[in-house]
Amino acid sequence: MRMFQVCVCGQPLQCNEGPTPEPKGSEILLKVLAAGVCHSDLHLADGWFDLGGGKKMSLADRGMKLPVTLGHENVGKVVAVGPDAKGVKVGSVLLADPWIGCGQCEVCKRGEENLCRAMKSAGVFSNGGYADYLIVPHPRYLFEIGDLPPERAAPLACSGITTFSALRKVPTIASEPTVIIGAGGLGLMALGLHKRMGGHSAIVVDIDPVKREAAMKAGAAHVVDGAAADAAAQIMKLTKDGAGAWAVIDLVGSGKSARVGFDSLIKGGKYIIVGLYGGDITVSLPPIAMRALTIQGSYLGSIPEMAELMELVRKTGLPDVPVTTRPLDDVNKAHAELRAGKVVGRVVLTPA
Ligand SMILES: [Zn+2]
Ligand SMILES: [Zn+2]
Repeated sequence: MRMFQVCVCGQPLQCNEGPTPEPKGSEILLKVLAAGVCHSDLHLADGWFDLGGGKKMSLADRGMKLPVTLGHENVGKVVAVGPDAKGVKVGSVLLADPWIGCGQCEVCKRGEENLCRAMKSAGVFSNGGYADYLIVPHPRYLFEIGDLPPERAAPLACSGITTFSALRKVPTIASEPTVIIGAGGLGLMALGLHKRMGGHSAIVVDIDPVKREAAMKAGAAHVVDGAAADAAAQIMKLTKDGAGAWAVIDLVGSGKSARVGFDSLIKGGKYIIVGLYGGDITVSLPPIAMRALTIQGSYLGSIPEMAELMELVRKTGLPDVPVTTRPLDDVNKAHAELRAGKVVGRVVLTPA
């Protein structure tokens, strides 16, 4: 089988060939039908995240061992099951939740494997779906996709669950506009799910006019240029009485986007950071207390949340995120385009 792997950080992925693995114990072998290309794959290929102030967080220090096959948004067809993989039928087409914890700790036992301190995530710490085949360690990570096309369902495994979990942290989703910073693949997914979760209006912020237009087409109530000097004031003006936003979901996570997001909150408002672009901001402490502000991180989503998300999309349909499919061999080209900011929506590789 072919595997596109990070062998040296900062270098293009290498296509390596190896034997197709056989599932043991509770494992399941999937033939990969669709593997989404996520922005965080660029950080994984680089080997570090920007912490701001010249500091970097090395992924090697966090347990990433090379070579590793990237690809964490996967849908595949079951081709073989281990003797203890109960309830999984050969031939079924399933989404693989890549956010795999140790399975033993208290956090994992309550289903929040995304918060485990010893994660083994597929496409990060273990081999992912930029390959012909993928091993999934246990049936609990597999979800029915119903009639959804594999290439459109695959992004639910990261882009979908990440935005869904962030939106679940917005108590005012049905009553007040939600601000969404970033209108790339993640932003359009968030916008689509926001509506399906009862959101009535969304203010979308992006520095790119093409992406702002895509957001308007996808149903944003308003768009704001995040690069404008008065971006925070513009956002506030769009809220009730110009008082500010009850919830901002920052899918970019840069110093600049955080500044805009944090500065547009109302008293009691919540700034939820999701994006991993990198950087830092300085905030005055007394107003956080006096204005009862919340700064909350949101990282991926739990297994119960994945089940909830799959039920929601099977009932209400998938968010209309533009998807472009490409052969597996194009992965490095797809990465280059994503790095250059040229991708609207999602690129999904189709190895089969
Ligand atoms: Zn991702
Ligand atoms: Zn654990």
